Amino acid sequence: MRFAARFLILYGSQRGQAQSIAEEICQQAAEHGFTADISCLSNQHKYNVDREIRPVVFVVSTTGDGDPPDTAHKFVRKIKNKSLVHDHFSHLRYALLALGDTNYANFCNGGKTIDSRLQQLGAKHFYATGHADDGTGLEVVVDPWIEGLWDALKKIFSSMSSSNQQSADLSDCTQDNYHKNASGQEKNKSGLEVDLQLLKLSEVDSQKGKTITSDSSDVETLSTALVASLKQSVPPLSESVLNVPALPASYLEVCLEQVSTEGETVPSDKDGYREVSISKAVQLTQDDAVKNAILLELDISEQSIAYQPGDAFDILCPNRASEVEELLLRLDLQTQKNCAVQVNLLKNKHLPKLQPRAYSAASSSLQHPGKVHFVFNVVEFPACPEHPARTGLCTGWLADHVSSILRPLGTVPASEHLGTSSQPKVHVRPRPSSTFHLPADPSIPVVMVGPGTGVAPFIGFLQQREKEREANQEATFGETWLFFGCRHKDKDFLFRYELERFEHNGTLSHLIVCFSRDEPDAAGTVNTPTYVQHNLRLHAKNVASILLKNKGSLYVCGDAKNMAKDVNDTLLEIIGNELQIDKLDAMKIVAGLREEKRYLQDIWS
Ligand code: NAP
Repeated sequence: MRFAARFLILYGSQRGQAQSIAEEICQQAAEHGFTADISCLSNQHKYNVDREIRPVVFVVSTTGDGDPPDTAHKFVRKIKNKSLVHDHFSHLRYALLALGDTNYANFCNGGKTIDSRLQQLGAKHFYATGHADDGTGLEVVVDPWIEGLWDALKKIFSSMSSSNQQSADLSDCTQDNYHKNASGQEKNKSGLEVDLQLLKLSEVDSQKGKTITSDSSDVETLSTALVASLKQSVPPLSESVLNVPALPASYLEVCLEQVSTEGETVPSDKDGYREVSISKAVQLTQDDAVKNAILLELDISEQSIAYQPGDAFDILCPNRASEVEELLLRLDLQTQKNCAVQVNLLKNKHLPKLQPRAYSAASSSLQHPGKVHFVFNVVEFPACPEHPARTGLCTGWLADHVSSILRPLGTVPASEHLGTSSQPKVHVRPRPSSTFHLPADPSIPVVMVGPGTGVAPFIGFLQQREKEREANQEATFGETWLFFGCRHKDKDFLFRYELERFEHNGTLSHLIVCFSRDEPDAAGTVNTPTYVQHNLRLHAKNVASILLKNKGSLYVCGDAKNMAKDVNDTLLEIIGNELQIDKLDAMKIVAGLREEKRYLQDIWS
């Protein structure tokens, strides 16, 4: 016989974060005396919340403009069904962990949507909802939330048990109709006393780190609990203060198979990744620029990958070879480095799975059929006492990976005559955006704000618009404004010649650029705006009129931490001044623009 109170974990994940947190909870459950079943919200045949009597733990992420993840769409549609009665979920006891990012509008809205609808339909929390912020680090909320979950589960099982609700279903504590409690008394399996005793045992069990496995050992566990051993002490020792420092917990479990492996492990197709060639790599910045920006062209012609400007691509990068070597050294596994290794993370340890990196498409397939471009800065971390200078994992790897074909802007590619077999390869997966696209009606005016590499999706927008204008010369096209910013006009003005061409041929009505680190002119008379928001202020009337009178759209792409916040504040100021309203009312208007998908952000930190 084994006691294990059973609960259900349901997760809705977009990029795998919610899933890995849910799996973490599932793993930890056993250690706390519980058994957890786990399912993705999209696998609706695997669970049925309409009849679920076990406590349910939801872990739900947020995507797009505050939307639930794609995997939760069906579930959300189902619970939003208007025909459901007000107490439809009155049987349901649940806890919910919502994931989000305060850099984006509608923080944690995926989880909040599910939470509020479950409440409306009578479901009850057995533990307060957690709202974890990727902007400050998910673990700040996730870790304590999980820690508190176990007590909350114990309480809910205890209270469900004492109200004699479905006690037999709450646990698989019997193999037959009868068993003994801790005092050796026989009780019927549906008997209240049995469950309460077992819950107490379960507490003892989790404190002592032992598993109750049979009737007789239940008794044994209690009677041996007070015998001193190497694993446990008894009073007075157990009551005295001990100063032995705790060993750091181990976090990896390594199993080696004596099978020699060659080459890299490639991701399986089911993850949606495809291997494509990098047909071009161009350095967009001068050597002395503050940041080194590189444009890559991927050949997707043989992979039938479709995308629209505004979409992004996930890039899978391997771990850095030097860091793998260091790890092998630390684990004393160097001699076995060519063996197949299965590495498992031990419970309670948030070393997160290597996540793909997303880059916005900086091209339109109308302009570059069969190709997609993207641009990135090689992220650099200066040396510090803990480690030497290093580059960002994916951007550093990409820069090394394309070094043989990298050429400066304006030079002829040396690799074009080479076959695709000699081109570097990369695994990519499209990540379509649900909203960040040009308006379907081309007559709608748009304002684009994209300093630095944040200009990427707008290059795609403008390439598309250029082609559409060529093909439909009679059509009406709305005004297009681009606010771009970089540090130095001559060093990092990304896509300068292409942007000037767009302006010249009318694709771009207004190209407004600022340089944050260029000196004012020799006479010192030119007061150059430093940042994009300063130029927005200078063109406040036009911006306000596009958004408030002409039903236009505002797109912002780039740094989430500072730029996007400052641009948002400037927008509030512009709207406040234009309509002569206070900040609160301006905020309501801006919220309305977001709601109508006329204020869209693609911002990353
Ligand atoms: P960046 O560091 O944002 O710098 C671009 C310009 O913005 C510089 O002139 C910088 O000036 C200025 N700036 C600094 N603080 C600002 C503020 N508070 N408001 C307005 N402008 C400000 O450019 P980046 O390195 O290219 O980074 C762009 C961001 O976009 C990154 O977060 C990146 O992850 C993100 N992003 C990239 C892609 C892509 O596909 N690669 C797509 C979308 C977003 P100073 O440095 O002189 O202060």
